[in-house]
Amino acid sequence: MKRRALLQAAVGVAALWPARSLLAQIAAAGGELAAKTLSGAATTLRTADIEGLAAAIRGQLILPGQDGYDAARRVWNAMIDRRPALIARCAAPSDVMQVVNFARERQLLTAVRCGGHSQSGKSTCDGGIVIDLSPMQSVRVDAKAKLARVEGGALLRHLDRETRAFGLVTTAGTVSHTGVGGLTLGGGLGRVGRRFGLACDNLRSVDVVTADGRLVTASDAENSDLMWGLRGGGGNFGVATSFEFNLHPMDPIVVAGDVAWPYSKAREALRNFAEFSSKAPDELNLDIGTVMTPDGQLMIASELVWSADHAAGERVMAPYRSFSSPVMDTVRALPYTDVQSSHDKFLENGIRDYRKSGFLTELNDHTIDALLETLAAAPPGLVRMTFQQAGGAIGRRAVDATAFPNRDARYWVALASSFKDPSEDEARIAAVREAWKPIEPLTRGFYVNAMTEDMYAKVDANYGPNYPRLAQLKRKYDPGNQFRLNANVVPAA
Ligand SMILES: Cc1cc2nc3c(=O)[nH]c(=O)nc-3n(C[C@H](O)[C@H](O)[C@H](O)COP(=O)(O)OP(=O)(O)OC[C@H]3O[C@@H](n4cnc5c(N)ncnc54)[C@H](O)[C@@H]3O)c2cc1C
Repeated sequence: MKRRALLQAAVGVAALWPARSLLAQIAAAGGELAAKTLSGAATTLRTADIEGLAAAIRGQLILPGQDGYDAARRVWNAMIDRRPALIARCAAPSDVMQVVNFARERQLLTAVRCGGHSQSGKSTCDGGIVIDLSPMQSVRVDAKAKLARVEGGALLRHLDRETRAFGLVTTAGTVSHTGVGGLTLGGGLGRVGRRFGLACDNLRSVDVVTADGRLVTASDAENSDLMWGLRGGGGNFGVATSFEFNLHPMDPIVVAGDVAWPYSKAREALRNFAEFSSKAPDELNLDIGTVMTPDGQLMIASELVWSADHAAGERVMAPYRSFSSPVMDTVRALPYTDVQSSHDKFLENGIRDYRKSGFLTELNDHTIDALLETLAAAPPGLVRMTFQQAGGAIGRRAVDATAFPNRDARYWVALASSFKDPSEDEARIAAVREAWKPIEPLTRGFYVNAMTEDMYAKVDANYGPNYPRLAQLKRKYDPGNQFRLNANVVPAA
Protein backbone atom coordinates (compact mmCIF):
# COMPACT_ATOMS: atom_id res chain seq x y z
CA MET A 1 0.00 0.00 0.00
CA LYS A 2 2.78 2.33 1.05
CA ARG A 3 4.69 1.39 -2.07
CA ARG A 4 1.69 2.24 -4.28
CA ALA A 5 1.29 5.62 -2.57
CA LEU A 6 4.95 6.29 -3.21
CA LEU A 7 4.62 5.43 -6.86
CA GLN A 8 1.53 7.59 -7.22
CA ALA A 9 3.39 10.46 -5.62
CA ALA A 10 6.26 9.85 -8.00
CA VAL A 11 3.92 10.16 -10.99
CA GLY A 12 2.69 13.50 -9.62
CA VAL A 13 6.23 14.58 -9.04
CA ALA A 14 7.35 13.57 -12.52
CA ALA A 15 4.61 15.76 -13.97
CA LEU A 16 5.90 18.70 -11.97
CA TRP A 17 9.61 18.26 -12.58
CA PRO A 18 11.42 18.10 -15.85
CA ALA A 19 14.31 15.81 -16.75
CA ARG A 20 15.92 13.86 -13.87
CA SER A 21 13.23 12.90 -11.43
CA LEU A 22 13.20 13.46 -7.73
CA LEU A 23 13.38 9.76 -7.02
CA ALA A 24 16.50 9.39 -9.11
CA GLN A 25 18.06 12.30 -7.30
CA ILE A 26 17.40 10.96 -3.88
CA ALA A 27 18.26 7.40 -4.83
CA ALA A 28 21.60 8.67 -6.07
CA ALA A 29 22.08 10.26 -2.67
CA GLY A 30 21.39 6.97 -0.88
CA GLY A 31 17.62 7.29 -0.40
CA GLU A 32 17.84 10.27 1.88
CA LEU A 33 18.70 13.88 1.34
CA ALA A 34 21.41 15.42 3.51
CA ALA A 35 20.34 18.64 5.17
CA LYS A 36 21.08 20.97 8.10
CA THR A 37 19.07 21.84 11.17
CA LEU A 38 18.62 25.26 12.73
CA SER A 39 21.65 24.65 14.94
CA GLY A 40 23.77 23.67 11.95
CA ALA A 41 23.76 19.96 12.82
CA ALA A 42 23.58 17.41 10.01
CA THR A 43 20.22 15.74 9.40
CA THR A 44 18.54 13.78 6.62
CA LEU A 45 15.22 14.25 4.86
CA ARG A 46 13.19 11.18 3.92
CA THR A 47 12.13 10.60 0.32
CA ALA A 48 8.49 10.23 1.24
CA ASP A 49 8.46 13.49 3.18
CA ILE A 50 9.97 15.42 0.32
CA GLU A 51 7.51 13.90 -2.09
CA GLY A 52 4.69 14.75 0.23
CA LEU A 53 5.74 18.37 0.29
CA ALA A 54 6.14 18.50 -3.48
CA ALA A 55 2.66 17.11 -3.94
CA ALA A 56 1.18 19.49 -1.37
CA ILE A 57 2.30 22.76 -2.91
CA ARG A 58 1.22 24.49 -6.09
CA GLY A 59 4.72 25.80 -6.68
CA GLN A 60 7.89 23.89 -7.37
CA LEU A 61 10.36 22.08 -5.17
CA ILE A 62 13.89 22.12 -6.52
CA LEU A 63 16.65 19.79 -5.32
CA PRO A 64 20.42 19.74 -5.73
CA GLY A 65 21.46 18.33 -9.08
CA GLN A 66 18.09 18.96 -10.64
CA ASP A 67 17.72 21.06 -13.78
CA GLY A 68 17.38 24.67 -12.74
CA TYR A 69 18.91 24.16 -9.27
CA ASP A 70 21.97 26.28 -9.98
CA ALA A 71 19.90 29.12 -11.40
CA ALA A 72 17.46 28.90 -8.50
CA ARG A 73 20.14 29.07 -5.80
CA ARG A 74 21.84 32.13 -7.31
CA VAL A 75 21.41 35.40 -5.44
CA TRP A 76 22.28 38.99 -6.34
CA ASN A 77 25.77 38.96 -4.80
CA ALA A 78 27.87 36.38 -6.67
CA MET A 79 30.23 36.17 -3.68
CA ILE A 80 27.48 34.19 -1.97
CA ASP A 81 27.65 30.60 -3.23
CA ARG A 82 25.41 28.42 -1.07
CA ARG A 83 23.77 25.07 -1.69
CA PRO A 84 20.38 24.65 -0.03
CA ALA A 85 18.99 21.12 0.37
CA LEU A 86 15.61 22.28 -0.92
CA ILE A 87 14.36 25.36 -2.72
CA ALA A 88 10.60 25.74 -2.40
CA ARG A 89 9.28 28.11 -5.02
CA CYS A 90 6.00 29.08 -3.41
CA ALA A 91 3.10 30.11 -5.60
CA ALA A 92 0.58 31.03 -2.89
CA PRO A 93 0.25 31.71 0.86
CA SER A 94 -0.95 28.12 1.35
CA ASP A 95 2.36 26.91 -0.13
CA VAL A 96 4.24 29.04 2.35
CA MET A 97 2.17 27.60 5.21
CA GLN A 98 2.98 24.05 4.11
CA VAL A 99 6.66 24.77 3.73
CA VAL A 100 6.94 26.57 7.08
CA ASN A 101 5.26 23.59 8.79
CA PHE A 102 7.58 21.18 6.99
CA ALA A 103 10.65 23.17 8.05
CA ARG A 104 9.55 23.71 11.66
CA GLU A 105 8.60 20.05 12.21
CA ARG A 106 12.09 19.03 11.12
CA GLN A 107 13.95 21.96 12.72
CA LEU A 108 15.30 22.64 9.26
CA LEU A 109 17.48 25.70 8.66
CA THR A 110 15.21 28.16 6.86
CA ALA A 111 15.93 31.10 4.58
CA VAL A 112 13.31 33.42 3.10
CA ARG A 113 13.86 35.00 -0.25
CA CYS A 114 12.15 37.78 -2.16
CA GLY A 115 14.53 39.69 -4.47
CA GLY A 116 17.67 37.89 -3.27
CA HIS A 117 19.54 41.17 -2.63
CA SER A 118 20.68 40.52 0.92
CA GLN A 119 24.27 41.75 0.84
CA SER A 120 25.51 38.99 3.16
CA GLY A 121 23.36 36.27 1.60
CA LYS A 122 20.79 35.70 4.35
CA SER A 123 18.12 34.70 1.82
CA THR A 124 19.92 31.46 1.06
CA CYS A 125 21.78 28.86 3.10
CA ASP A 126 23.86 25.71 2.97
CA GLY A 127 21.84 22.57 3.60
CA GLY A 128 18.57 24.21 4.65
CA ILE A 129 15.37 25.10 2.88
CA VAL A 130 14.85 28.32 0.93
CA ILE A 131 11.32 29.69 0.89
CA ASP A 132 11.54 31.41 -2.47
CA LEU A 133 8.67 33.82 -3.08
CA SER A 134 9.71 34.79 -6.60
CA PRO A 135 6.59 33.25 -8.23
CA MET A 136 4.47 35.64 -6.11
CA GLN A 137 4.96 39.02 -7.77
CA SER A 138 1.54 40.43 -8.47
CA VAL A 139 0.76 44.07 -7.71
CA ARG A 140 -2.79 45.37 -7.66
CA VAL A 141 -3.51 49.06 -7.28
CA ASP A 142 -6.77 50.34 -5.85
CA ALA A 143 -6.54 53.94 -7.03
CA LYS A 144 -9.66 55.02 -5.19
CA ALA A 145 -8.39 53.75 -1.86
CA LYS A 146 -4.81 54.88 -2.72
CA LEU A 147 -3.61 51.41 -1.92
CA ALA A 148 -1.29 48.86 -3.56
CA ARG A 149 -1.55 45.19 -2.68
CA VAL A 150 1.81 43.61 -3.40
CA GLU A 151 2.74 39.93 -3.16
CA GLY A 152 5.71 38.96 -1.00
CA GLY A 153 8.04 38.12 -3.89
CA ALA A 154 7.56 41.27 -5.96
CA LEU A 155 10.44 43.49 -7.03
CA LEU A 156 10.51 47.26 -6.71
CA ARG A 157 10.08 47.72 -10.45
CA HIS A 158 6.79 45.83 -10.33
CA LEU A 159 5.52 48.14 -7.59
CA ASP A 160 6.74 51.38 -9.20
CA ARG A 161 5.39 50.53 -12.65
CA GLU A 162 1.91 49.69 -11.45
CA THR A 163 1.52 52.68 -9.15
CA ARG A 164 2.90 55.08 -11.77
CA ALA A 165 0.09 54.13 -14.14
CA PHE A 166 -2.32 55.75 -11.67
CA GLY A 167 -0.19 58.84 -10.88
CA LEU A 168 0.50 57.34 -7.47
CA VAL A 169 3.68 56.34 -5.65
CA THR A 170 5.07 54.92 -2.45
CA THR A 171 8.66 54.84 -1.25
CA ALA A 172 10.80 52.19 -2.93
CA GLY A 173 14.58 51.80 -3.10
CA THR A 174 16.97 53.10 -5.72
CA VAL A 175 17.64 49.91 -7.74
CA SER A 176 14.58 48.44 -9.38
CA HIS A 177 15.57 44.74 -9.26
CA THR A 178 15.65 44.82 -5.43
CA GLY A 179 12.90 42.89 -3.63
CA VAL A 180 9.96 44.65 -1.98
CA GLY A 181 10.04 42.05 0.83
CA GLY A 182 13.48 42.51 2.35
CA LEU A 183 13.67 46.23 1.63
CA THR A 184 10.34 47.05 3.27
CA LEU A 185 10.65 44.83 6.33
CA GLY A 186 14.06 46.31 7.18
CA GLY A 187 12.95 49.94 6.62
CA GLY A 188 13.16 51.01 2.99
CA LEU A 189 15.08 54.16 2.03
CA GLY A 190 14.36 55.67 -1.36
CA ARG A 191 14.21 58.74 -3.52
CA VAL A 192 10.83 59.88 -2.20
CA GLY A 193 11.42 58.72 1.38
CA ARG A 194 12.08 62.21 2.71
CA ARG A 195 8.66 63.20 1.40
CA PHE A 196 6.59 60.10 2.20
CA GLY A 197 8.61 58.24 4.86
CA LEU A 198 10.29 54.84 4.73
CA ALA A 199 8.70 52.01 2.75
CA CYS A 200 7.73 50.40 6.07
CA ASP A 201 6.09 53.64 7.23
CA ASN A 202 3.73 53.32 4.29
CA LEU A 203 2.54 49.84 5.16
CA ARG A 204 -1.17 49.61 5.81
CA SER A 205 -1.19 45.88 6.47
CA VAL A 206 0.87 42.75 5.96
CA ASP A 207 -0.19 39.10 5.63
CA VAL A 208 2.36 36.94 7.40
CA VAL A 209 2.85 33.22 7.79
CA THR A 210 4.19 32.91 11.31
CA ALA A 211 6.45 30.13 12.58
CA ASP A 212 3.45 28.01 13.65
CA GLY A 213 2.25 27.94 10.03
CA ARG A 214 -0.73 30.29 10.54
CA LEU A 215 -1.50 33.11 8.13
CA VAL A 216 -2.17 36.24 10.14
CA THR A 217 -2.90 39.78 9.05
CA ALA A 218 -1.15 42.61 10.81
CA SER A 219 -2.29 46.22 10.67
CA ASP A 220 -2.69 49.09 13.12
CA ALA A 221 -6.12 47.65 13.99
CA GLU A 222 -5.35 43.92 14.00
CA ASN A 223 -2.29 42.28 15.59
CA SER A 224 -0.91 45.78 15.98
CA ASP A 225 2.07 44.50 18.01
CA LEU A 226 3.16 42.46 15.01
CA MET A 227 2.58 45.42 12.68
CA TRP A 228 4.92 47.50 14.84
CA GLY A 229 7.62 44.82 14.52
CA LEU A 230 7.21 44.43 10.77
CA ARG A 231 8.01 48.11 10.31
CA GLY A 232 11.77 47.68 10.52
CA GLY A 233 12.15 44.37 12.35
CA GLY A 234 13.11 42.53 9.15
CA GLY A 235 12.21 38.90 8.50
CA ASN A 236 12.17 37.96 12.19
CA PHE A 237 8.46 37.30 12.60
CA GLY A 238 7.50 35.17 9.63
CA VAL A 239 7.07 35.12 5.89
CA ALA A 240 5.22 38.12 4.48
CA THR A 241 3.06 36.83 1.65
CA SER A 242 1.43 40.16 0.86
CA PHE A 243 1.89 43.84 1.69
CA GLU A 244 -0.62 46.66 1.50
CA PHE A 245 1.01 50.05 0.89
CA ASN A 246 -0.48 53.52 1.21
CA LEU A 247 -0.01 55.43 -2.03
CA HIS A 248 0.45 59.15 -2.62
CA PRO A 249 -0.46 61.23 -5.65
CA MET A 250 2.71 62.26 -7.51
CA ASP A 251 3.48 63.56 -11.00
CA PRO A 252 5.04 60.53 -12.77
CA ILE A 253 7.45 63.00 -14.41
CA VAL A 254 10.09 64.29 -12.01
CA VAL A 255 13.03 66.68 -12.46
CA ALA A 256 16.13 64.61 -11.93
CA GLY A 257 19.66 63.85 -13.05
CA ASP A 258 23.32 63.95 -12.09
CA VAL A 259 25.67 66.85 -11.53
CA ALA A 260 29.39 66.02 -11.44
CA TRP A 261 32.66 67.69 -10.52
CA PRO A 262 36.25 66.50 -11.03
CA TYR A 263 37.53 64.62 -7.99
CA SER A 264 39.97 67.47 -7.30
CA LYS A 265 36.89 69.39 -6.11
CA ALA A 266 35.65 66.57 -3.87
CA ARG A 267 36.11 68.46 -0.59
CA GLU A 268 34.21 71.55 -1.66
CA ALA A 269 31.54 69.47 -3.42
CA LEU A 270 30.97 67.39 -0.28
CA ARG A 271 30.83 70.50 1.92
CA ASN A 272 28.32 72.06 -0.43
CA PHE A 273 26.30 68.81 -0.43
CA ALA A 274 26.31 68.78 3.39
CA GLU A 275 25.19 72.39 3.63
CA PHE A 276 22.58 72.23 0.88
CA SER A 277 21.11 68.84 1.78
CA SER A 278 20.72 69.78 5.46
CA LYS A 279 18.28 72.53 4.45
CA ALA A 280 16.69 70.95 1.40
CA PRO A 281 12.90 70.64 1.26
CA ASP A 282 11.45 67.13 1.59
CA GLU A 283 10.59 67.12 -2.12
CA LEU A 284 14.29 67.06 -2.99
CA ASN A 285 16.41 63.95 -2.62
CA LEU A 286 20.10 64.50 -2.99
CA ASP A 287 22.82 61.85 -3.02
CA ILE A 288 26.53 62.04 -3.68
CA GLY A 289 29.37 59.61 -4.33
CA THR A 290 32.53 58.86 -6.24
CA VAL A 291 32.20 57.56 -9.79
CA MET A 292 34.68 56.43 -12.38
CA THR A 293 33.86 57.56 -15.92
CA PRO A 294 34.21 55.02 -18.78
CA ASP A 295 37.48 56.73 -19.76
CA GLY A 296 38.88 56.22 -16.24
CA GLN A 297 38.39 59.66 -14.68
CA LEU A 298 37.43 59.84 -11.03
CA MET A 299 34.58 62.26 -10.36
CA ILE A 300 32.35 63.25 -7.51
CA ALA A 301 28.75 63.09 -8.68
CA SER A 302 25.47 64.01 -7.08
CA GLU A 303 22.03 62.75 -8.02
CA LEU A 304 19.16 65.20 -7.62
CA VAL A 305 15.52 64.11 -7.69
CA TRP A 306 12.78 66.73 -7.33
CA SER A 307 9.38 65.08 -7.12
CA ALA A 308 6.98 68.08 -6.96
CA ASP A 309 6.17 71.17 -9.08
CA HIS A 310 8.80 71.44 -11.81
CA ALA A 311 9.28 75.23 -11.85
CA ALA A 312 9.68 75.28 -8.07
CA GLY A 313 12.22 72.46 -8.34
CA GLU A 314 14.27 74.31 -10.95
CA ARG A 315 14.45 77.30 -8.59
CA VAL A 316 15.39 75.21 -5.55
CA MET A 317 18.06 73.21 -7.37
CA ALA A 318 19.63 76.11 -9.33
CA PRO A 319 22.28 77.13 -6.76
CA TYR A 320 23.38 73.52 -6.27
CA ARG A 321 23.62 72.88 -9.99
CA SER A 322 25.73 75.96 -10.61
CA PHE A 323 28.07 75.41 -7.68
CA SER A 324 31.76 75.51 -8.66
CA SER A 325 31.29 74.95 -12.41
CA PRO A 326 30.28 71.27 -12.65
CA VAL A 327 31.62 69.35 -15.64
CA MET A 328 28.33 67.52 -16.16
CA ASP A 329 24.68 68.29 -15.53
CA THR A 330 21.99 65.91 -16.81
CA VAL A 331 19.10 67.26 -14.70
CA ARG A 332 15.90 67.32 -16.74
CA ALA A 333 12.25 66.28 -16.66
CA LEU A 334 11.97 62.51 -16.98
CA PRO A 335 9.75 59.63 -15.87
CA TYR A 336 10.20 58.68 -12.22
CA THR A 337 10.39 55.01 -13.22
CA ASP A 338 13.38 55.82 -15.49
CA VAL A 339 15.15 57.39 -12.53
CA GLN A 340 14.24 54.40 -10.38
CA SER A 341 15.99 52.03 -12.80
CA SER A 342 18.90 54.32 -13.67
CA HIS A 343 21.33 52.55 -11.30
CA ASP A 344 20.25 49.02 -12.25
CA LYS A 345 23.08 48.34 -14.66
CA PHE A 346 25.81 49.41 -12.23
CA LEU A 347 24.67 46.92 -9.63
CA GLU A 348 23.33 44.15 -11.83
CA ASN A 349 22.42 40.67 -10.63
CA GLY A 350 25.51 38.48 -10.40
CA ILE A 351 27.97 41.22 -9.49
CA ARG A 352 30.40 40.63 -6.60
CA ASP A 353 29.94 43.23 -3.90
CA TYR A 354 31.40 44.04 -0.52
CA ARG A 355 30.46 47.16 1.43
CA LYS A 356 30.62 48.62 4.89
CA SER A 357 28.09 51.22 5.81
CA GLY A 358 26.42 53.13 8.60
CA PHE A 359 24.22 56.09 9.38
CA LEU A 360 25.37 59.65 10.04
CA THR A 361 23.33 62.15 12.03
CA GLU A 362 25.19 65.01 10.35
CA LEU A 363 27.87 65.47 7.75
CA ASN A 364 30.51 67.79 9.18
CA ASP A 365 33.95 68.87 7.96
CA HIS A 366 35.67 66.34 10.19
CA THR A 367 33.74 63.44 8.62
CA ILE A 368 34.32 64.78 5.12
CA ASP A 369 38.06 65.04 5.78
CA ALA A 370 38.13 61.52 7.25
CA LEU A 371 36.32 60.12 4.20
CA LEU A 372 38.67 61.81 1.76
CA GLU A 373 41.74 60.72 3.70
CA THR A 374 40.67 57.10 3.89
CA LEU A 375 39.80 57.04 0.18
CA ALA A 376 43.21 58.55 -0.63
CA ALA A 377 44.94 55.82 1.41
CA ALA A 378 42.99 52.97 -0.27
CA PRO A 379 44.48 51.12 -3.25
CA PRO A 380 43.48 53.14 -6.34
CA GLY A 381 40.14 52.22 -7.88
CA LEU A 382 39.15 49.59 -5.31
CA VAL A 383 36.88 51.52 -2.96
CA ARG A 384 34.08 53.90 -3.82
CA MET A 385 32.01 56.11 -1.58
CA THR A 386 28.28 56.53 -1.73
CA PHE A 387 25.71 58.50 0.27
CA GLN A 388 21.96 58.13 0.49
CA GLN A 389 20.02 60.97 2.07
CA ALA A 390 17.54 60.29 4.88
CA GLY A 391 15.82 62.82 7.16
CA GLY A 392 12.63 64.65 6.23
CA ALA A 393 9.51 62.55 6.90
CA ILE A 394 11.73 59.59 7.90
CA GLY A 395 13.10 61.57 10.83
CA ARG A 396 9.78 62.94 11.99
CA ARG A 397 8.59 59.69 13.52
CA ALA A 398 9.48 58.80 17.09
CA VAL A 399 12.08 56.05 17.55
CA ASP A 400 9.53 53.85 19.30
CA ALA A 401 6.73 54.49 16.75
CA THR A 402 8.03 51.57 14.68
CA ALA A 403 10.74 48.94 15.08
CA PHE A 404 13.04 50.89 12.70
CA PRO A 405 15.45 52.51 15.17
CA ASN A 406 17.59 54.93 13.16
CA ARG A 407 15.19 57.87 12.97
CA ASP A 408 17.92 60.42 13.71
CA ALA A 409 19.89 59.37 10.62
CA ARG A 410 20.37 62.12 8.06
CA TYR A 411 22.62 60.15 5.70
CA TRP A 412 23.51 56.55 5.00
CA VAL A 413 27.16 56.33 3.97
CA ALA A 414 28.90 53.34 2.43
CA LEU A 415 32.36 52.43 1.26
CA ALA A 416 31.96 49.74 -1.34
CA SER A 417 33.64 47.61 -3.94
CA SER A 418 31.68 46.03 -6.78
CA PHE A 419 33.45 43.87 -9.34
CA LYS A 420 33.31 40.72 -11.45
CA ASP A 421 36.56 38.79 -11.02
CA PRO A 422 36.49 36.27 -8.11
CA SER A 423 40.27 36.42 -7.84
CA GLU A 424 39.90 40.00 -6.55
CA ASP A 425 37.69 39.04 -3.58
CA GLU A 426 40.40 39.10 -0.94
CA ALA A 427 42.04 42.36 -1.98
CA ARG A 428 38.74 44.17 -2.37
CA ILE A 429 37.30 43.00 0.95
CA ALA A 430 40.53 43.96 2.73
CA ALA A 431 40.56 47.39 1.07
CA VAL A 432 36.97 48.17 2.09
CA ARG A 433 37.49 46.98 5.65
CA GLU A 434 40.65 49.01 6.05
CA ALA A 435 39.09 52.13 4.55
CA TRP A 436 36.03 51.81 6.80
CA LYS A 437 38.02 51.62 10.06
CA PRO A 438 38.32 55.39 10.63
CA ILE A 439 34.74 56.01 9.46
CA GLU A 440 32.88 53.50 11.62
CA PRO A 441 33.39 55.49 14.87
CA LEU A 442 31.83 58.52 13.18
CA THR A 443 28.61 56.65 12.36
CA ARG A 444 25.61 56.23 14.62
CA GLY A 445 24.01 52.87 14.08
CA PHE A 446 23.67 50.94 10.87
CA TYR A 447 21.02 49.81 8.45
CA VAL A 448 19.85 46.24 9.10
CA ASN A 449 19.36 45.89 5.35
CA ALA A 450 23.07 46.46 4.68
CA MET A 451 25.13 44.28 6.94
CA THR A 452 28.37 42.36 6.73
CA GLU A 453 28.75 39.18 8.81
CA ASP A 454 30.65 40.92 11.62
CA MET A 455 27.71 43.29 12.26
CA TYR A 456 25.19 40.60 13.24
CA ALA A 457 26.52 40.52 16.80
CA LYS A 458 25.55 44.20 17.15
CA VAL A 459 21.90 43.90 16.11
CA ASP A 460 20.59 44.36 19.68
CA ALA A 461 22.60 47.55 20.23
CA ASN A 462 21.49 48.88 16.86
CA TYR A 463 17.80 48.42 17.70
CA GLY A 464 18.57 50.20 20.98
CA PRO A 465 15.42 50.98 22.99
CA ASN A 466 13.28 48.95 20.58
CA TYR A 467 15.13 45.70 21.13
CA PRO A 468 13.36 44.48 24.31
CA ARG A 469 9.98 44.92 22.60
CA LEU A 470 11.25 43.10 19.51
CA ALA A 471 12.51 40.24 21.69
CA GLN A 472 9.06 39.92 23.33
CA LEU A 473 7.41 39.87 19.90
CA LYS A 474 9.87 37.27 18.71
CA ARG A 475 8.94 35.06 21.66
CA LYS A 476 5.27 35.42 20.75
CA TYR A 477 5.53 34.84 17.00
CA ASP A 478 8.70 32.77 16.57
CA PRO A 479 9.71 31.26 19.93
CA GLY A 480 11.93 28.63 18.30
CA ASN A 481 13.77 31.24 16.19
CA GLN A 482 12.86 29.41 12.99
CA PHE A 483 13.45 32.68 11.12
CA ARG A 484 16.99 33.35 12.19
CA LEU A 485 18.71 34.09 8.91
CA ASN A 486 18.24 37.85 9.21
CA ALA A 487 19.20 40.71 11.55
CA ASN A 488 18.25 38.27 14.22
CA VAL A 489 16.31 39.12 17.33
CA VAL A 490 16.69 36.45 20.00
CA PRO A 491 13.33 35.48 21.57
CA ALA A 492 12.95 36.91 25.08
CA ALA A 493 13.39 34.32 27.83
C1 LIG B 1 21.68 46.73 -5.56
C2 LIG B 1 21.06 47.06 -4.23
C3 LIG B 1 20.45 48.29 -4.05
C4 LIG B 1 19.84 48.60 -2.84
N1 LIG B 1 19.23 49.82 -2.67
C5 LIG B 1 18.56 50.08 -1.54
C6 LIG B 1 17.83 51.28 -1.38
O1 LIG B 1 17.82 52.13 -2.24
N2 LIG B 1 17.13 51.45 -0.23
C7 LIG B 1 17.13 50.53 0.76
O2 LIG B 1 16.45 50.74 1.76
N3 LIG B 1 17.83 49.39 0.66
C8 LIG B 1 18.54 49.15 -0.47
N4 LIG B 1 19.26 47.98 -0.59
C9 LIG B 1 19.31 47.06 0.55
C10 LIG B 1 18.07 46.18 0.51
O3 LIG B 1 17.03 46.82 1.21
C11 LIG B 1 18.34 44.81 1.15
O4 LIG B 1 19.36 44.16 0.46
C12 LIG B 1 17.09 43.96 1.18
O5 LIG B 1 17.31 42.84 2.00
C13 LIG B 1 16.72 43.51 -0.20
O6 LIG B 1 15.48 42.86 -0.20
P1 LIG B 1 15.28 41.53 -1.08
O7 LIG B 1 13.90 41.12 -0.90
O8 LIG B 1 15.81 41.77 -2.45
O9 LIG B 1 16.30 40.60 -0.33
P2 LIG B 1 16.32 39.04 -0.02
O10 LIG B 1 17.76 38.70 -0.08
O11 LIG B 1 15.39 38.28 -0.83
O12 LIG B 1 15.83 39.02 1.48
C14 LIG B 1 16.61 39.59 2.50
C15 LIG B 1 16.00 39.21 3.83
O13 LIG B 1 14.74 39.83 3.95
C16 LIG B 1 13.81 38.94 4.54
N5 LIG B 1 12.70 38.80 3.60
C17 LIG B 1 12.67 39.07 2.29
N6 LIG B 1 11.43 38.92 1.81
C18 LIG B 1 10.67 38.53 2.83
C19 LIG B 1 9.30 38.22 2.96
N7 LIG B 1 8.46 38.30 1.95
N8 LIG B 1 8.86 37.82 4.18
C20 LIG B 1 9.69 37.75 5.24
N9 LIG B 1 10.99 38.03 5.17
C21 LIG B 1 11.47 38.43 3.97
C22 LIG B 1 14.54 37.68 4.86
O14 LIG B 1 14.97 37.74 6.21
C23 LIG B 1 15.75 37.72 3.98
O15 LIG B 1 16.88 37.11 4.54
C24 LIG B 1 19.87 47.66 -1.78
C25 LIG B 1 20.52 46.44 -1.96
C26 LIG B 1 21.11 46.14 -3.17
C27 LIG B 1 21.80 44.84 -3.34
